[in-house]
Amino acid sequence: MPSLYLHIPFCEHKCIYCDFYSIENMDSKERFLKVLEIEIRMRAERFDHTQSVETIFFGGGTPSLLSRQQFERIFSLLHKYFRIESNAEITCESNPGTVELGKLSDFRSVGFNRISFGIQSFHDDDLKFLTRIHSAEEAERAVESAYRAGFENVSCDLIFALPKQTPDRWKENLRRAIALKPKHISAYALIVEEQTPLATMVKNKLVAPLPDEEDAELYEITINTLTSHGYEQYEVSNFAQPGYLSRHNFNYWNHEDYIGFGPSAHSFCKDSSTSGKRWWNVRSIQSYCDALERNEFPESGNEFIDRKKFFTEEIFLGLRSTGIDLKKLYPLFGEDVLSIRQKEITEMEQEGLLIRSANKIFLTSKGYAVCDEIAAQLIF
Ligand code: SF4
Repeated sequence: MPSLYLHIPFCEHKCIYCDFYSIENMDSKERFLKVLEIEIRMRAERFDHTQSVETIFFGGGTPSLLSRQQFERIFSLLHKYFRIESNAEITCESNPGTVELGKLSDFRSVGFNRISFGIQSFHDDDLKFLTRIHSAEEAERAVESAYRAGFENVSCDLIFALPKQTPDRWKENLRRAIALKPKHISAYALIVEEQTPLATMVKNKLVAPLPDEEDAELYEITINTLTSHGYEQYEVSNFAQPGYLSRHNFNYWNHEDYIGFGPSAHSFCKDSSTSGKRWWNVRSIQSYCDALERNEFPESGNEFIDRKKFFTEEIFLGLRSTGIDLKKLYPLFGEDVLSIRQKEITEMEQEGLLIRSANKIFLTSKGYAVCDEIAAQLIF
């Protein structure tokens, strides 16, 4: 079942490590909301309406900067143009520095049933280093307020492998996250993305990334701690209490259709002549608004997913999440699809990196730590 993604490209402050498309200047917010309505209508005209929408995700940027009235406008259009399932998972990404109880209650009443907080750390000096706008105390208050506002399905994002981060400091982050009892926790290693202020700091030797062995140790602590507290690891960086896996993430990883709205948003649709088509919007609010005001799609690129690319993506996405579903590969590649890699698979199984069942190959915790290396061995 398809998913919708809405990219809200505004942030109060640009964090030093972030390479998502967002701007600090809010002057174009009203213009953006007007053209977003045009994009929703135009994309809906091309949508296969035999399908209903199973998940909606507002990401960014900082969607929690929008007001109740602005969300109401967007939701009324989504409901007008799409058939949204009554039990759809509807998520709002939120910066803890932008919400309080009243606003969270508004989010709940406009239709959100899942909220994802970008907490990143429970140490104020880490948050200062990352140039986040919130404190650890504000993050805890935001989660508590979300429960009071009626959210049951709360997710917390954390970042590990910060420069000089010790195992004890990371364990303290995990402990405080678990104490808040979120249904879902995402734990990402800090990546030094090109063209970010963090990359410049690293280049100028102002900070040094954590060595790989220490990064791996923190990752192992993450898996051991979260799984021992009832969180199931269902992707390299994602952990959930039973029944609370992110259905939206799952749709991405399963090559289900998804439509993205907003600057830089990506979309994917199955296609009758290939394995699918992916396209993406321009990474500029100006160009995005200009195109839609001319009633043109604001796309800057696209690609068709041929057999080879589909195979590669199925291996990577499958291994990253709940396993390669071999049944999906049989119609295109035959039942002996991975027999050419039998030797490598057996060796990795003996090393405890993966488990093979009748129609599935999935990673163990040990395997998740070297997921990319394993995928590279299976691709041909
Ligand atoms: S709040 Fe989120 S989207 Fe905005 S700059 Fe920071 S990390 Fe990026």
